[in-house]
Amino acid sequence: MKVLVINCGSSSLKYQLIDSDSENVLAKGLCERIGIDGRLVYQKAGLDKEITEAPMPTHKEAIQLVLDALTNEKTGAIKSLSEVEAIGHRVVHGGEKFASSAIITDDMLKAVEECNELAPLHNPANLIGINVCAELMPGVPQVAVFDTAFHQTMPPRAYLYGLPIRYYRDYKVRRYGFHGTSHSYVSKRAAEFLGLDPENSRIIVCHLGNGSSISAVQNGKCIDTTMGLTPLEGVVMGTRSGSIDPAIMEYVAKKDNLDIAGVMNVLNKKSGLLGMSGVSSDMRDLEAAAAEDNKDAKNAFDVLTYDIIKYVGGYVAAMNGVDAVIFTAGIGENDGKVRAAVVKNLAYLGVTLDEEANKVRGEEVVISTPDSKVKVAVIPTNEELAICRDTVALVQGK
Ligand code: AMP
Repeated sequence: MKVLVINCGSSSLKYQLIDSDSENVLAKGLCERIGIDGRLVYQKAGLDKEITEAPMPTHKEAIQLVLDALTNEKTGAIKSLSEVEAIGHRVVHGGEKFASSAIITDDMLKAVEECNELAPLHNPANLIGINVCAELMPGVPQVAVFDTAFHQTMPPRAYLYGLPIRYYRDYKVRRYGFHGTSHSYVSKRAAEFLGLDPENSRIIVCHLGNGSSISAVQNGKCIDTTMGLTPLEGVVMGTRSGSIDPAIMEYVAKKDNLDIAGVMNVLNKKSGLLGMSGVSSDMRDLEAAAAEDNKDAKNAFDVLTYDIIKYVGGYVAAMNGVDAVIFTAGIGENDGKVRAAVVKNLAYLGVTLDEEANKVRGEEVVISTPDSKVKVAVIPTNEELAICRDTVALVQGK
């Protein structure tokens, strides 16, 4: 089955066309600057990237351009759109309504719309993508795969905040967690790769990218994760602060004469590695600056790795032990320095780093020595493939 996977952001859109039988990517790319000017990146498997500047006033024109590229006579991956048998959409927030992926129906879309308030920047864009695909490819079944769904197994002790309970009851203020598709895919793959029993295992997944989150997965189910009501909570990230004393917000607002939107903008876009270092949100730039003795960049690196060490330790305690610690996403898969700094502080678990294995980038590899009591590994994430698999399973009624 050929499955189109769509991930719509507010002004961008990523896509992949996947053959679900072979799990090969037939074509992939992205649309950028939707609503501004427009740029389409398209790459058929085995060919070079094609970049086209093309007006995209809305997501509708963007998706139409993707469909045109996919069926282009010379470089298209398919001859006709009728070859696309299902569409899988990433949807950021499913609230408490969705604990798994779901076939898209009119009733179901109403329930997704009710979650918009919880992710006002993301969910409306995801819904636009769904509606435009329904219009341009009528009759093709569509599936929503939620970033929050995998974390719905968390118990109240992990998802409730120490706030008046009516905020939860009336406004649904609680920990939801994000990157769920990645945490689900990586924890399952880790169990397979390491020969662990998925029903009897304790795995900590460190998804470290521009956005970062860590989750504790016990017997295949998420029992805790670092992101919260929104993706702002948890470890320090590229531009997001991660967890801070909430009183800082009022203090800084008064000092800098900011309103709530102004403070939120600082916490989401001007903090994290970028804000701390003044250099960049990109780990590679940060490490280059640290290598030249930039103290702020060094401190930003240390804050990130110390955060990871503390959350991992917390989750070891929460699960009363751990079988495997997994690194994934841009930093987790590629950055041996971050992994080494974290693994150094896992000696209390009987873990030693295999320095040679830790040099590997972007591949499935065990980076703990064979005599280590707990396994540490790198497992590249693949959210698109996970979305494709869920889409096929639901469309085929499995
Ligand atoms: P993601 O959001 O998963 O795409 O991850 C993006 C992050 O991964 C950025 O901070 C990049 O700097 C980081 N990253 C990608 N490649 C490398 C690398 N080779 N070394 C260190 N960090 C990397």
